[in-house]
Amino acid sequence: MSDCCSAPGLMPFESALDNLLSQVSPITDTIWVPIEESLHYVVASNILSPINVPGHDNSAMDGYAFSHQSLLSSKTLLLVGKSMAGSPYKGECHVGECIRIMTGGKMPDDCDSVEMQENVSVVESSGTINNQITFLQNNKLGSHVRREGEDIKQDQVVLMKGHRITAVDVGVLASLGIEKICVFRKLRVALIATGDELKLPGQPLKSGDIYESNSFVLSSLLTKLHVEIIDFGIIRDDFVAIKNAFALADEQADAVVSSGGVSVGDADFTKDVLDEMGEIAFWKIAMKPGKPFAFGKLPSSVFFGLPGNPVSALVTFHQLALIALTKMQNANALKRTRICVKSSDNLRKSPGRMDFQRGVFTTDEQGEPCVKTTGAQGSGILSSLANANCFIILPALQGNVEAGDKVLIELFDHFLS
Ligand code: AMP
Ligand code: MG
Repeated sequence: MSDCCSAPGLMPFESALDNLLSQVSPITDTIWVPIEESLHYVVASNILSPINVPGHDNSAMDGYAFSHQSLLSSKTLLLVGKSMAGSPYKGECHVGECIRIMTGGKMPDDCDSVEMQENVSVVESSGTINNQITFLQNNKLGSHVRREGEDIKQDQVVLMKGHRITAVDVGVLASLGIEKICVFRKLRVALIATGDELKLPGQPLKSGDIYESNSFVLSSLLTKLHVEIIDFGIIRDDFVAIKNAFALADEQADAVVSSGGVSVGDADFTKDVLDEMGEIAFWKIAMKPGKPFAFGKLPSSVFFGLPGNPVSALVTFHQLALIALTKMQNANALKRTRICVKSSDNLRKSPGRMDFQRGVFTTDEQGEPCVKTTGAQGSGILSSLANANCFIILPALQGNVEAGDKVLIELFDHFLS
Protein backbone atom coordinates (compact mmCIF):
# COMPACT_ATOMS: atom_id res chain seq x y z
CA MET A 1 0.00 0.00 0.00
CA SER A 2 1.27 3.47 -0.70
CA ASP A 3 1.58 6.13 2.00
CA CYS A 4 1.83 9.86 1.91
CA CYS A 5 5.30 9.38 0.45
CA SER A 6 3.34 8.40 -2.64
CA ALA A 7 2.43 12.07 -2.80
CA PRO A 8 5.95 13.48 -2.78
CA GLY A 9 6.38 17.02 -1.54
CA LEU A 10 2.98 17.10 0.13
CA MET A 11 2.81 17.86 3.83
CA PRO A 12 0.56 15.51 5.86
CA PHE A 13 -2.61 17.29 6.99
CA GLU A 14 -1.85 16.93 10.72
CA SER A 15 1.66 18.40 10.27
CA ALA A 16 0.20 21.30 8.29
CA LEU A 17 -2.25 22.06 11.08
CA ASP A 18 0.45 21.80 13.79
CA ASN A 19 2.76 23.94 11.70
CA LEU A 20 0.07 26.54 11.17
CA LEU A 21 -0.87 26.71 14.84
CA SER A 22 2.75 27.01 15.93
CA GLN A 23 3.20 30.05 13.69
CA VAL A 24 0.21 32.17 14.66
CA SER A 25 0.10 34.22 17.86
CA PRO A 26 -2.92 35.39 19.80
CA ILE A 27 -3.61 39.13 19.70
CA THR A 28 -3.10 41.04 22.95
CA ASP A 29 -5.21 44.21 22.53
CA THR A 30 -8.23 44.35 24.79
CA ILE A 31 -11.26 46.64 24.92
CA TRP A 32 -14.15 47.19 27.31
CA VAL A 33 -17.61 46.59 25.85
CA PRO A 34 -21.07 47.09 27.37
CA ILE A 35 -22.61 43.65 27.95
CA GLU A 36 -25.36 44.32 25.40
CA GLU A 37 -22.61 44.52 22.74
CA SER A 38 -20.51 41.64 24.08
CA LEU A 39 -22.10 38.73 22.17
CA HIS A 40 -19.40 36.51 20.54
CA TYR A 41 -16.45 38.51 21.87
CA VAL A 42 -13.69 36.52 23.63
CA VAL A 43 -13.28 37.14 27.36
CA ALA A 44 -9.84 38.70 28.08
CA SER A 45 -9.53 37.86 31.78
CA ASN A 46 -11.54 35.72 34.17
CA ILE A 47 -14.81 37.38 35.18
CA LEU A 48 -15.66 36.99 38.89
CA SER A 49 -19.11 37.40 40.35
CA PRO A 50 -19.38 40.59 42.41
CA ILE A 51 -22.37 39.16 44.34
CA ASN A 52 -24.01 35.99 45.58
CA VAL A 53 -26.82 34.67 43.39
CA PRO A 54 -29.42 34.52 44.76
CA GLY A 55 -28.48 37.49 46.90
CA HIS A 56 -30.72 36.30 49.75
CA ASP A 57 -32.61 33.14 50.76
CA ASN A 58 -35.92 33.25 48.92
CA SER A 59 -38.93 31.11 48.18
CA ALA A 60 -39.08 28.80 45.16
CA MET A 61 -42.88 28.57 45.43
CA ASP A 62 -46.00 30.56 46.12
CA GLY A 63 -46.92 29.39 49.63
CA TYR A 64 -46.11 29.88 53.30
CA ALA A 65 -42.76 30.35 55.07
CA PHE A 66 -42.18 29.28 58.66
CA SER A 67 -39.64 27.85 61.07
CA HIS A 68 -39.66 24.08 60.69
CA GLN A 69 -39.69 23.47 64.43
CA SER A 70 -43.13 25.11 64.56
CA LEU A 71 -44.65 22.03 62.95
CA LEU A 72 -43.30 19.72 65.67
CA SER A 73 -45.97 20.95 68.08
CA SER A 74 -48.84 21.89 65.76
CA LYS A 75 -49.90 21.47 62.14
CA THR A 76 -51.74 24.79 62.24
CA LEU A 77 -49.82 28.08 62.29
CA LEU A 78 -50.93 31.67 62.62
CA LEU A 79 -50.47 33.86 59.56
CA VAL A 80 -48.65 37.08 60.59
CA GLY A 81 -47.59 38.77 57.37
CA LYS A 82 -46.47 38.52 53.81
CA SER A 83 -43.26 38.63 51.71
CA MET A 84 -43.47 39.40 48.01
CA ALA A 85 -40.61 39.52 45.48
CA GLY A 86 -39.27 43.04 45.96
CA SER A 87 -41.30 43.69 49.17
CA PRO A 88 -39.82 41.65 52.01
CA TYR A 89 -41.62 41.00 55.31
CA LYS A 90 -40.05 43.28 57.89
CA GLY A 91 -41.54 41.85 61.11
CA GLU A 92 -40.71 38.75 63.10
CA CYS A 93 -42.12 35.27 62.61
CA HIS A 94 -42.10 33.34 65.86
CA VAL A 95 -42.57 29.64 66.55
CA GLY A 96 -46.22 28.87 65.84
CA GLU A 97 -46.44 31.53 63.14
CA CYS A 98 -46.01 31.66 59.38
CA ILE A 99 -46.07 34.24 56.62
CA ARG A 100 -47.52 34.26 53.13
CA ILE A 101 -44.64 34.20 50.64
CA MET A 102 -44.52 34.43 46.85
CA THR A 103 -41.92 32.96 44.49
CA GLY A 104 -38.76 35.07 44.80
CA GLY A 105 -39.98 36.61 48.08
CA LYS A 106 -37.17 37.08 50.65
CA MET A 107 -37.21 34.56 53.50
CA PRO A 108 -37.47 36.24 56.92
CA ASP A 109 -34.41 35.48 59.09
CA ASP A 110 -36.44 33.34 61.48
CA CYS A 111 -37.98 31.12 58.78
CA ASP A 112 -36.21 28.14 57.21
CA SER A 113 -38.85 26.28 55.17
CA VAL A 114 -41.67 26.90 52.70
CA GLU A 115 -44.80 24.88 52.00
CA MET A 116 -46.55 25.33 48.68
CA GLN A 117 -50.03 26.76 48.84
CA GLU A 118 -51.59 23.63 47.30
CA ASN A 119 -50.62 21.68 50.47
CA VAL A 120 -52.29 23.86 53.08
CA SER A 121 -55.83 24.74 54.05
CA VAL A 122 -56.62 28.29 55.03
CA VAL A 123 -59.16 29.11 57.72
CA GLU A 124 -59.99 32.79 57.68
CA SER A 125 -60.93 34.33 60.99
CA SER A 126 -61.44 37.97 60.03
CA GLY A 127 -60.22 39.63 56.88
CA THR A 128 -56.67 38.63 56.20
CA ILE A 129 -55.36 38.91 59.73
CA ASN A 130 -55.29 36.03 62.19
CA ASN A 131 -55.78 33.46 59.45
CA GLN A 132 -55.00 29.93 60.52
CA ILE A 133 -52.93 27.91 58.07
CA THR A 134 -53.12 24.14 58.40
CA PHE A 135 -50.29 22.15 56.87
CA LEU A 136 -51.73 19.03 55.24
CA GLN A 137 -48.45 17.20 54.58
CA ASN A 138 -45.19 16.53 56.35
CA ASN A 139 -42.72 19.19 55.30
CA LYS A 140 -38.97 18.69 55.12
CA LEU A 141 -36.66 21.21 56.78
CA GLY A 142 -35.44 23.71 54.18
CA SER A 143 -37.98 22.74 51.54
CA HIS A 144 -38.70 25.12 48.63
CA VAL A 145 -36.05 27.58 49.77
CA ARG A 146 -33.49 28.88 47.29
CA ARG A 147 -30.36 29.53 49.32
CA GLU A 148 -28.24 32.65 49.09
CA GLY A 149 -25.31 31.92 46.73
CA GLU A 150 -26.58 28.46 45.70
CA ASP A 151 -26.36 29.40 42.00
CA ILE A 152 -23.21 31.56 42.00
CA LYS A 153 -21.01 32.54 44.96
CA GLN A 154 -19.44 35.98 45.29
CA ASP A 155 -15.90 35.96 43.74
CA GLN A 156 -16.60 32.71 41.90
CA VAL A 157 -15.25 32.65 38.32
CA VAL A 158 -18.29 32.87 36.06
CA LEU A 159 -16.54 33.19 32.69
CA MET A 160 -12.96 32.16 31.98
CA LYS A 161 -10.45 33.92 29.77
CA GLY A 162 -10.82 32.52 26.24
CA HIS A 163 -14.55 31.90 26.55
CA ARG A 164 -16.67 33.24 23.70
CA ILE A 165 -19.69 35.12 25.02
CA THR A 166 -23.04 33.43 24.29
CA ALA A 167 -26.54 34.88 24.49
CA VAL A 168 -27.06 33.12 27.84
CA ASP A 169 -23.79 34.58 29.17
CA VAL A 170 -25.09 38.09 28.44
CA GLY A 171 -28.06 37.26 30.68
CA VAL A 172 -25.79 35.84 33.39
CA LEU A 173 -23.66 39.00 33.32
CA ALA A 174 -26.78 41.16 33.62
CA SER A 175 -28.03 39.03 36.53
CA LEU A 176 -24.75 39.78 38.32
CA GLY A 177 -25.15 43.51 37.80
CA ILE A 178 -22.09 43.67 35.52
CA GLU A 179 -22.42 46.49 32.98
CA LYS A 180 -19.29 46.04 30.87
CA ILE A 181 -16.56 43.46 30.40
CA CYS A 182 -12.98 43.31 29.12
CA VAL A 183 -12.65 41.35 25.87
CA PHE A 184 -10.09 40.92 23.13
CA ARG A 185 -10.64 43.32 20.26
CA LYS A 186 -12.01 41.92 17.04
CA LEU A 187 -9.49 40.30 14.74
CA ARG A 188 -9.18 42.14 11.42
CA VAL A 189 -9.27 39.80 8.45
CA ALA A 190 -8.77 40.92 4.83
CA LEU A 191 -10.49 38.95 2.07
CA ILE A 192 -9.18 38.90 -1.48
CA ALA A 193 -10.57 36.94 -4.45
CA THR A 194 -8.17 36.62 -7.36
CA GLY A 195 -9.16 35.74 -10.92
CA ASP A 196 -9.72 37.46 -14.29
CA GLU A 197 -12.80 35.30 -14.86
CA LEU A 198 -14.63 36.42 -11.71
CA LYS A 199 -17.68 38.68 -11.79
CA LEU A 200 -19.89 39.84 -8.97
CA PRO A 201 -23.53 38.71 -8.88
CA GLY A 202 -25.52 41.32 -10.79
CA GLN A 203 -22.79 41.89 -13.38
CA PRO A 204 -23.15 40.43 -16.90
CA LEU A 205 -20.95 37.41 -17.66
CA LYS A 206 -18.66 37.47 -20.71
CA SER A 207 -17.84 34.17 -22.38
CA GLY A 208 -15.68 32.18 -19.94
CA ASP A 209 -16.59 34.28 -16.90
CA ILE A 210 -18.05 32.87 -13.70
CA TYR A 211 -19.65 34.41 -10.67
CA GLU A 212 -17.35 34.93 -7.73
CA SER A 213 -18.60 32.92 -4.75
CA ASN A 214 -15.63 32.27 -2.46
CA SER A 215 -15.59 35.66 -0.79
CA PHE A 216 -19.32 35.38 -0.11
CA VAL A 217 -18.91 32.02 1.64
CA LEU A 218 -15.80 33.18 3.47
CA SER A 219 -17.23 36.46 4.67
CA SER A 220 -20.30 34.59 5.93
CA LEU A 221 -18.04 32.22 7.89
CA LEU A 222 -15.96 35.13 9.16
CA THR A 223 -19.13 36.88 10.31
CA LYS A 224 -19.88 33.80 12.41
CA LEU A 225 -16.32 33.97 13.75
CA HIS A 226 -17.05 37.56 14.82
CA VAL A 227 -14.14 39.29 13.13
CA GLU A 228 -13.88 42.62 11.35
CA ILE A 229 -13.88 41.85 7.63
CA ILE A 230 -11.97 44.04 5.21
CA ASP A 231 -13.22 42.98 1.81
CA PHE A 232 -10.86 43.77 -1.11
CA GLY A 233 -13.27 42.26 -3.66
CA ILE A 234 -11.92 40.79 -6.87
CA ILE A 235 -8.29 41.38 -7.91
CA ARG A 236 -7.10 40.62 -11.46
CA ASP A 237 -4.54 37.91 -12.18
CA ASP A 238 -1.72 40.42 -12.38
CA PHE A 239 1.47 40.41 -10.31
CA VAL A 240 1.40 44.14 -9.53
CA ALA A 241 -2.35 44.29 -8.81
CA ILE A 242 -2.06 41.33 -6.43
CA LYS A 243 1.03 42.74 -4.78
CA ASN A 244 -0.67 46.11 -4.21
CA ALA A 245 -3.73 44.43 -2.74
CA PHE A 246 -1.64 42.23 -0.45
CA ALA A 247 0.41 45.26 0.70
CA LEU A 248 -2.73 47.26 1.56
CA ALA A 249 -4.35 44.27 3.22
CA ASP A 250 -1.19 43.65 5.25
CA GLU A 251 -1.26 47.24 6.55
CA GLN A 252 -4.85 46.95 7.73
CA ALA A 253 -5.36 43.37 8.83
CA ASP A 254 -4.07 40.77 11.29
CA ALA A 255 -4.70 38.05 8.73
CA VAL A 256 -5.06 38.09 4.97
CA VAL A 257 -7.15 35.40 3.27
CA SER A 258 -6.99 35.10 -0.50
CA SER A 259 -8.54 32.56 -2.81
CA GLY A 260 -7.36 31.42 -6.21
CA GLY A 261 -4.03 31.66 -7.96
CA VAL A 262 -2.17 29.30 -5.64
CA SER A 263 -1.60 26.50 -8.14
CA VAL A 264 1.12 26.40 -10.75
CA GLY A 265 -0.85 27.74 -13.72
CA ASP A 266 0.25 30.66 -15.91
CA ALA A 267 -2.11 33.02 -14.04
CA ASP A 268 -1.15 31.88 -10.53
CA PHE A 269 0.81 34.74 -8.97
CA THR A 270 0.01 34.35 -5.30
CA LYS A 271 3.10 32.30 -4.52
CA ASP A 272 5.43 34.66 -6.40
CA VAL A 273 3.99 37.73 -4.67
CA LEU A 274 4.26 36.07 -1.29
CA ASP A 275 7.84 35.03 -2.04
CA GLU A 276 8.72 38.63 -2.79
CA MET A 277 6.82 40.28 0.07
CA GLY A 278 7.20 37.83 2.91
CA GLU A 279 7.75 34.13 3.33
CA ILE A 280 5.88 30.94 2.57
CA ALA A 281 5.63 28.59 5.54
CA PHE A 282 4.37 25.65 3.52
CA TRP A 283 2.80 25.12 0.26
CA LYS A 284 1.04 21.88 -0.59
CA ILE A 285 -0.92 19.65 1.73
CA ALA A 286 -1.77 15.96 1.44
CA MET A 287 -5.49 16.65 1.66
CA LYS A 288 -8.34 16.41 -0.80
CA PRO A 289 -9.87 18.77 -1.62
CA GLY A 290 -7.36 21.50 -0.97
CA LYS A 291 -3.90 20.38 -2.02
CA PRO A 292 -2.63 23.81 -3.11
CA PHE A 293 -3.07 25.60 0.22
CA ALA A 294 -0.46 28.19 1.10
CA PHE A 295 0.36 29.62 4.48
CA GLY A 296 2.84 32.39 4.96
CA LYS A 297 3.81 35.62 6.64
CA LEU A 298 3.48 39.11 5.24
CA PRO A 299 5.45 41.89 6.98
CA SER A 300 2.80 42.43 9.68
CA SER A 301 0.10 39.82 9.16
CA VAL A 302 -0.33 36.14 8.52
CA PHE A 303 -1.45 34.92 5.14
CA PHE A 304 -3.77 32.08 4.16
CA GLY A 305 -3.76 31.32 0.44
CA LEU A 306 -6.80 29.20 -0.31
CA PRO A 307 -7.27 27.33 -3.58
CA GLY A 308 -9.77 28.90 -6.00
CA ASN A 309 -12.06 25.90 -6.36
CA PRO A 310 -15.04 26.66 -4.14
CA VAL A 311 -15.07 23.33 -2.28
CA SER A 312 -11.30 23.39 -1.78
CA ALA A 313 -11.44 26.99 -0.57
CA LEU A 314 -14.17 26.23 1.93
CA VAL A 315 -12.72 22.95 3.24
CA THR A 316 -9.20 24.34 3.74
CA PHE A 317 -10.62 27.46 5.34
CA HIS A 318 -12.81 25.41 7.68
CA GLN A 319 -10.23 22.75 8.57
CA LEU A 320 -7.11 24.93 8.79
CA ALA A 321 -7.60 28.70 8.67
CA LEU A 322 -10.57 28.82 11.07
CA ILE A 323 -8.61 26.90 13.68
CA ALA A 324 -5.64 29.24 13.37
CA LEU A 325 -7.87 32.35 13.42
CA THR A 326 -9.58 31.05 16.57
CA LYS A 327 -6.17 30.78 18.23
CA MET A 328 -5.35 34.34 17.08
CA GLN A 329 -8.58 35.51 18.72
CA ASN A 330 -7.49 33.91 22.02
CA ALA A 331 -10.67 31.84 21.95
CA ASN A 332 -10.87 28.30 23.29
CA ALA A 333 -10.18 25.71 20.60
CA LEU A 334 -13.17 24.78 18.44
CA LYS A 335 -14.86 21.54 19.48
CA ARG A 336 -15.93 19.38 16.59
CA THR A 337 -17.74 16.08 16.92
CA ARG A 338 -16.10 13.12 15.21
CA ILE A 339 -17.69 9.68 15.33
CA CYS A 340 -17.29 6.33 13.58
CA VAL A 341 -20.30 5.12 11.61
CA LYS A 342 -21.11 2.67 8.84
CA SER A 343 -20.86 3.91 5.28
CA SER A 344 -23.99 3.04 3.27
CA ASP A 345 -22.15 3.56 0.00
CA ASN A 346 -18.98 2.46 -1.73
CA LEU A 347 -16.58 5.42 -1.65
CA ARG A 348 -13.79 5.94 -4.13
CA LYS A 349 -10.50 6.91 -2.51
CA SER A 350 -6.94 6.73 -3.76
CA PRO A 351 -4.23 6.37 -1.12
CA GLY A 352 -1.95 9.38 -0.71
CA ARG A 353 -4.01 12.27 0.63
CA MET A 354 -6.48 12.67 3.48
CA ASP A 355 -9.97 13.02 2.01
CA PHE A 356 -12.67 15.30 3.36
CA GLN A 357 -15.57 13.85 1.38
CA ARG A 358 -19.00 15.31 1.87
CA GLY A 359 -21.64 13.08 3.45
CA VAL A 360 -25.10 12.93 4.95
CA PHE A 361 -25.24 11.45 8.46
CA THR A 362 -28.57 9.68 8.81
CA THR A 363 -30.09 6.33 9.87
CA ASP A 364 -30.64 3.23 7.74
CA GLU A 365 -33.82 1.10 7.50
CA GLN A 366 -32.88 -0.65 10.77
CA GLY A 367 -32.55 2.71 12.50
CA GLU A 368 -28.76 2.35 12.75
CA PRO A 369 -26.61 5.46 12.26
CA CYS A 370 -24.88 5.58 8.90
CA VAL A 371 -23.39 8.00 6.41
CA LYS A 372 -24.26 8.38 2.74
CA THR A 373 -22.16 10.18 0.16
CA THR A 374 -23.50 13.36 -1.44
CA GLY A 375 -22.37 11.96 -4.79
CA ALA A 376 -19.88 13.63 -7.12
CA GLN A 377 -17.00 14.99 -5.06
CA GLY A 378 -15.34 17.36 -7.56
CA SER A 379 -13.67 20.29 -5.88
CA GLY A 380 -15.75 22.76 -7.89
CA ILE A 381 -19.10 21.17 -6.92
CA LEU A 382 -20.32 23.46 -4.16
CA SER A 383 -23.65 21.61 -3.99
CA SER A 384 -21.74 18.59 -2.61
CA LEU A 385 -21.24 20.75 0.47
CA ALA A 386 -24.60 22.45 0.44
CA ASN A 387 -26.37 19.07 0.57
CA ALA A 388 -24.08 17.58 3.23
CA ASN A 389 -24.21 17.63 7.02
CA CYS A 390 -20.80 16.06 7.70
CA PHE A 391 -17.35 15.35 6.35
CA ILE A 392 -16.33 11.76 5.77
CA ILE A 393 -12.68 11.88 6.80
CA LEU A 394 -10.64 9.16 5.13
CA PRO A 395 -7.00 8.92 6.29
CA ALA A 396 -4.20 9.37 3.78
CA LEU A 397 -3.31 5.67 3.68
CA GLN A 398 -6.87 4.49 3.08
CA GLY A 399 -8.03 3.12 -0.26
CA ASN A 400 -11.59 2.54 -1.51
CA VAL A 401 -14.33 2.10 1.09
CA GLU A 402 -16.89 -0.71 0.69
CA ALA A 403 -20.51 -0.19 1.70
CA GLY A 404 -20.82 -1.46 5.29
CA ASP A 405 -17.28 -0.42 6.30
CA LYS A 406 -16.91 1.90 9.28
CA VAL A 407 -15.68 5.42 8.51
CA LEU A 408 -14.86 8.49 10.60
CA ILE A 409 -17.21 11.41 10.14
CA GLU A 410 -17.10 14.96 11.46
CA LEU A 411 -20.50 16.57 11.93
CA PHE A 412 -20.78 20.07 10.50
CA ASP A 413 -20.37 22.60 13.26
CA HIS A 414 -22.25 25.89 13.48
CA PHE A 415 -19.99 27.42 10.82
CA LEU A 416 -21.26 25.05 8.15
CA SER A 417 -24.82 24.60 9.26
P1 AMP B 1 -7.38 28.92 -9.36
O1 AMP B 1 -7.02 28.36 -8.00
O2 AMP B 1 -7.27 30.40 -9.41
O3 AMP B 1 -6.64 28.22 -10.43
O4 AMP B 1 -8.91 28.59 -9.57
C1 AMP B 1 -9.37 27.24 -9.63
C2 AMP B 1 -10.83 27.22 -10.05
O5 AMP B 1 -11.62 27.89 -9.07
C3 AMP B 1 -11.11 27.91 -11.36
O6 AMP B 1 -12.11 27.17 -12.03
C4 AMP B 1 -11.63 29.26 -10.95
O7 AMP B 1 -12.48 29.85 -11.91
C5 AMP B 1 -12.39 28.94 -9.68
N1 AMP B 1 -12.40 30.07 -8.80
C6 AMP B 1 -11.32 30.80 -8.41
N2 AMP B 1 -11.68 31.78 -7.57
C7 AMP B 1 -13.02 31.67 -7.41
C8 AMP B 1 -13.97 32.42 -6.67
N3 AMP B 1 -13.59 33.44 -5.90
N4 AMP B 1 -15.26 32.03 -6.73
C9 AMP B 1 -15.64 30.98 -7.48
N5 AMP B 1 -14.79 30.24 -8.19
C10 AMP B 1 -13.48 30.58 -8.19
MG1 MG C 1 -7.30 31.79 -10.84
